[in-house]
Parts: sequence; C-alpha cells; structure tokens
Amino acid sequence: MSRGKKTVERVMQLMNQPECIRNIGIVAHIDHGKTTLSDNLLAGAGIISEDLAGKACWMDSDEEEQARGITIDASNVSMVHEYNGKEYLINMIDTPGHVDFGGDVTRAMRAVDGAVVLVDAVEGTMPQTETVLRQALKERVKPVLFINKVDRLINELQVDEMEMQIRLGKVIDKVNKLIKGMNEEMYNNGWKLDAANGTVAFGSALYNWAISVPYMKKSGISFKEVYEHCKKGEMKELGKKSPLCEVVLDMVVSFLPNPKEAQPRRIGVIWHGDVNSPEGKGMITCDPNAPSCLMVTDISFDPHAGEVATGRLFSGKLSRGNEMYVMGTAKKVNRLQQVGIFMGPTRVEVPELYAGNIAAVTGLKDAIVGSTVSSLMEMTPFESLEHYSEPVVTVA
Ligand code: GDP
Repeated sequence: MSRGKKTVERVMQLMNQPECIRNIGIVAHIDHGKTTLSDNLLAGAGIISEDLAGKACWMDSDEEEQARGITIDASNVSMVHEYNGKEYLINMIDTPGHVDFGGDVTRAMRAVDGAVVLVDAVEGTMPQTETVLRQALKERVKPVLFINKVDRLINELQVDEMEMQIRLGKVIDKVNKLIKGMNEEMYNNGWKLDAANGTVAFGSALYNWAISVPYMKKSGISFKEVYEHCKKGEMKELGKKSPLCEVVLDMVVSFLPNPKEAQPRRIGVIWHGDVNSPEGKGMITCDPNAPSCLMVTDISFDPHAGEVATGRLFSGKLSRGNEMYVMGTAKKVNRLQQVGIFMGPTRVEVPELYAGNIAAVTGLKDAIVGSTVSSLMEMTPFESLEHYSEPVVTVA
C-alpha cells in the first residue's frame, strides 16, 4: 500500500476518536524558524522528503498532486504520530510569521487547542513572541515551548555546557514571566513551563535534532552527549539519535490537550451563549450527537471546488447534503456540498466528520471568516475574532 493511502486510512480511523486528536499551531517571532520546524515535522511524518525539509517550502513542492486535481492547502496539515504504542492525529494549522498577519494568527488560535511557542535561543523572546503568546492565552490555547537554533549557541557563540543551560533557563524564565503576567490563573493551574516535566524541548530545526527531559529518559541520550555531538558538528548522528519530530510531537501528544479536555475550558471564553442549551452542552462535551456548531476560521479558493470554508467543528457532525445556517445572515439554508479534512497537505472528502476536528467544507455560500455556522436556525454566535497588533504589557 502506498504511504499516502496508508495515511488516509489511519487518519480516517483517528478522526472520530477525540482523545487521539491534537489541534495545534506553531507560533513564533519572524525568522525564529517556524517554517523550518514545520517542514521538519512534515518530513518526519513522511509528507515531504527529508531532503526538502529546511531547504524548500513543502507548500510548493507538490506539483504532481496539483496536476492530479487534489488541492494543496498551505494552511492546514494532518499528521499521524505514534506515541507509546498508540496513534494520534495531529492537525497543524499554519500561523503567519509576520506581525501584519496578526488577524490570521487570531483565526488560527480559535481553531486549535494547543500551541508550540518557538523561540530562537540566541535572540530570546521578541515583541512578536509576546503578541502571539497573548493571543493564544486569550483563546485559552495551552502553550509548550520549543527553543530553536541551539546549534548556534554552541557553534557560533561557543558557550560551554554550563553557560548553555543557564541561557536556556533564562529563555524559559522569560516565557514563564509572560504567561504569568498574561494569565496568572492558568499559570498557577499547570501552564507554567518546566523543562523537568517535559513542557519544554530544545534543539535545532535546521539540523533536525531536538531534546527534552522525557526524551532523554526514553532514549538514554544525555545532555552532555547532545552538547558534544553538536560541538563536533555530528548533526546527522544527533538527528538520528534524537530526531526533532519525535521529540516535538511526543511533547505535543503528552502535554497539549485533546478537544474533549480543551473545549470545557475554551467554550465559556469564546462563546457567551447558554451553557445549558443543547448546543452549549454539546460544545462543552464535544458531543458528535449534539447540534452541529462550526466556527469558520479561513476561506480559500479551490479552482475545482470553489470556495472552501475551513473551521473548527465544536459539536455535532457534518456530511454532504446537511442543511446549515450562517448566523447573522438571512436565515437561508446553506447546503453542504463537500465535507473534507486535511490529510497531509491535501484535502480529502470524507463521508462524515465529527466534533473536535478541523473541517474543510464547500457549499457555505453565506459564510465569511469568523462566521458561526450551525444545524440550528438560530444560536448565539461565537465571540468575534479580535487580535492584538501590539503587546499591551511588557514584562521585564
Ligand atoms: P520563520 O520566519 O520563523 O518561518 O523562520 P525560517 O524557518 O524561515 O528560518 C529563518 C532562518 O533561520 C533561515 O535562514 C533558517 O535556515 C534559519 N534556521 C532555522 N532554524 C535554525 C536552526 O535550528 N539553526 C540555525 N543555525 N538556523 C536555523
């Protein structure tokens, strides 16, 4: 069986098991390495070739698929990751790296439950790190931290092992100060980042290696070994012993919430309707049998299928032919034409899609970005998408 076909089957099996789903985004200041990290994760999942990772953008890499009429969507990818003998479906939503795209970061954060905050080890946190982190916390999106470009600390700045630990510790402390300053309640309730418990990993997206405390225990590799391999320039070996995608996706699966865990916390913040109504209860419990509630976070144009609305399905299920309503418009029926999800970077039609997933549908002719779409003719819409373009509070 081809790798692509295998992915499709695995994704289909996982998409109706919310416990096995992680909807995530990578957020970072520009140039800190988000594209390089994303490419590496995709290469690890077999979606692009390892040679391409870090060199070329996967998004333009698949002309063959386009020629066959399958849509490549640049902003969403799904991967299957195995952890402790179990498979997980990881839906990764792209967040633009430039501050001008603040609105897009906001939309992406509405669709996900967890964020990998990426910080350059040499530069440390930057204003945009602060902005995207604030946006994540506002949407009750849980952060983990990846400190990138650690190779530069060793090979360019020539720091010794001790100094390296001190520098990494400083980055973690700074991010923790930001989290505490932005949302003390969540910080005190388990969102404080801690390398010892595994919510922080560090490495080099360019050279395809990473390390975390849980991965050191799992693989037997020590901090000293990592340091020495890197110092000697043995990047390939390090990438084999401690591959970036394993370390980062293990961290995602272990510490970022699945939709069932996340929705009870998030719904009260992003939706101000009656939590005891059928749709309120349905969204809080991520119930596939409740009324369907979808928040549209992106609209793209597909040359074959027309307008494709992407969004987070918080409750219910969707299938072709369903009658839906777009809140805030004349109550006209919008009939779903295609219902799909992203498998790798391609959009594939599925017979039915369940609560907790990222949906890609056609037929919602009245929807715009930010629309609340429901099987109910009327429901309270989601809170409008607002974004910060400037950090509001600066923590020293
Ligand atoms: P983005 O703007 O956050 O998407 O950043 P990119 O992924 O485009 O990376 C910006 C630059 O940093 C590129 O020149 C990358 O090759 C480089 N880069 C990314 N990750 C690493 C790393 O781990 N080590 C080093 N030395 N350079 C890196």
